[in-house]
Amino acid sequence: MNKHIAIVGSGLGGLVCGYILAKNGYRITILEKNPQPGGCLQTFVRHGAKFETGIHYIGSVEEGQVLHRLFRYLSLLPDVKLRSLDKMAYDTISIGGKHFLCANGRENFVEQLAQYFPQERANLQRYYNTIADITENLPLHSLRTQASLDKLNLAYLQTSTSEFIESITPNHLLRQVLSGNLPLYGGVYGKTPLYIHALIRDFYNKSAYRIVGGSDVIARSLIKSIRAMGGEVRTLAQVTKICCDSAKAVGVTLQSGEEVRADYFITNIHPLRTIELLGDTNLIRKAYRDRVAGMKNTISNFTVYIKFKKNTVPYLNTNIFYHDSGDVWECENYTQDSWHKSFLYMHVCSSADSPFAEAAVAIAYMRFDEVERWKNTQRGQRGSDYEEFKRRKAECLLGELEKQNPGIMNNIEAYSTSTPLTYLDYTGTERGSMYGVLHDCNQPLLSAVSQRTKIPNLYQTGQNINLHGILGVMIGALMTAGELLGTDNVLAQVAKAG
Ligand SMILES: Cc1cc2nc3c(=O)[nH]c(=O)nc-3n(C[C@H](O)[C@H](O)[C@H](O)COP(=O)(O)OP(=O)(O)OC[C@H]3O[C@@H](n4cnc5c(N)ncnc54)[C@H](O)[C@@H]3O)c2cc1C
Repeated sequence: MNKHIAIVGSGLGGLVCGYILAKNGYRITILEKNPQPGGCLQTFVRHGAKFETGIHYIGSVEEGQVLHRLFRYLSLLPDVKLRSLDKMAYDTISIGGKHFLCANGRENFVEQLAQYFPQERANLQRYYNTIADITENLPLHSLRTQASLDKLNLAYLQTSTSEFIESITPNHLLRQVLSGNLPLYGGVYGKTPLYIHALIRDFYNKSAYRIVGGSDVIARSLIKSIRAMGGEVRTLAQVTKICCDSAKAVGVTLQSGEEVRADYFITNIHPLRTIELLGDTNLIRKAYRDRVAGMKNTISNFTVYIKFKKNTVPYLNTNIFYHDSGDVWECENYTQDSWHKSFLYMHVCSSADSPFAEAAVAIAYMRFDEVERWKNTQRGQRGSDYEEFKRRKAECLLGELEKQNPGIMNNIEAYSTSTPLTYLDYTGTERGSMYGVLHDCNQPLLSAVSQRTKIPNLYQTGQNINLHGILGVMIGALMTAGELLGTDNVLAQVAKAG
């Protein structure tokens, strides 16, 4: 009989692990606490418009590029429809009102920025040479085996993004522009390792697309495939305990009291949540518990989901990272008076070719401490002071949007909001953290989360293993599935798929 694997959480990591393992003959049961599967792949409809919660745009998805190869292996290509962002301006970095466009492709990227900074062409080339050197030599991210890791200059792993960018140019404005996409990884000055910046820059620079109709199609497609291979995906199935005997995990208990027994277990949740589910088993040492409890997490966010009046706002096929004229690395260190120092503005892609946008999101950093006082309240019943808090923050963010895009307020039909509590509720991520555990180049081992645990048949997956984002999580899932199947074997399967 096939070995049975129970997966806790149906985020992207859980679904991709489920797909790979089902394809390799395992019996899969995915247990999801929410009514809708997918974690950050969930979408929702407000005021008649559909919104993304966590995958607004994706990269490296043209024929032959890494995400395209993974999509082919995961049978996603027939289901996922894409709309390209502007090849000459997939991202726009706005510093103090001045716009800088990021173009796809290494040469275009350098040449376009050199238009604004003609004296800096050689430095821009040096910048991109290093980005390429890092990404080409991070083997898993180019779907090669670990054996080639020795080609990577290990100094890159211990260098911070900010230190690297400062070493590239003394030009303050160019430093701001090159750092301006840091909300994509919750970058922290002096801490976020250079390889994270490099992977994300390169990922979107190769090609950048939005998913037409919403990224929930990825969850639906993977679930359809998992079910077709005999697997089970259950919603409203919250795991409340992982039960162990003296040597290994034996089952999980659901909120309903039901027990699901299996041969192997994979958690697709924040490592702190995994430890909570394990209770006081002595299979997990105190030193590990303390290390995970001490890990710092990336910041959370406050989002305004905007529904436009019909056919009033032209569809914007760039993402705009608005920063004030201060230091972009300071955007996490706001005060009540200076919130928000930066925000990301993106249109939702509801159609493959409509010239108008139906909806948009404006996402600003927000620390969990701002909403901590409501953390023990229930969704929808947090009280009028919470509603007032959200209204004030939304008006502040929309006011800034109006300043940057005069007249846009007249075209807004309705809006809704989410706070760090929303992400905590929906995904269980610690303190609503956007991208999970914060990687620190000064303490790489302390912030590392392994796919293995001390419990021999319990593994972890999701954005805290490897890296966040669609590619980071898919590669992490490949590493987790590789624990049972052999990573080289999984890579060979991806290569065989084309
Ligand atoms: C605001 C925002 C914008 C983003 N934008 C992008 C983007 O444009 N492009 C990109 O590539 N990435 C983006 N990301 C990152 C990306 O969304 C995430 O890295 C990725 O989706 C995380 O996947 P995951 O597998 O770790 O699981 P998660 O999405 O965190 O899902 C975990 C799942 O586990 C379930 N769960 C938790 N506890 C239990 C339990 N006890 N029992 C059962 N189920 C449980 C949760 O309900 C959830 O469904 C964004 C993230 C955020 C927050």
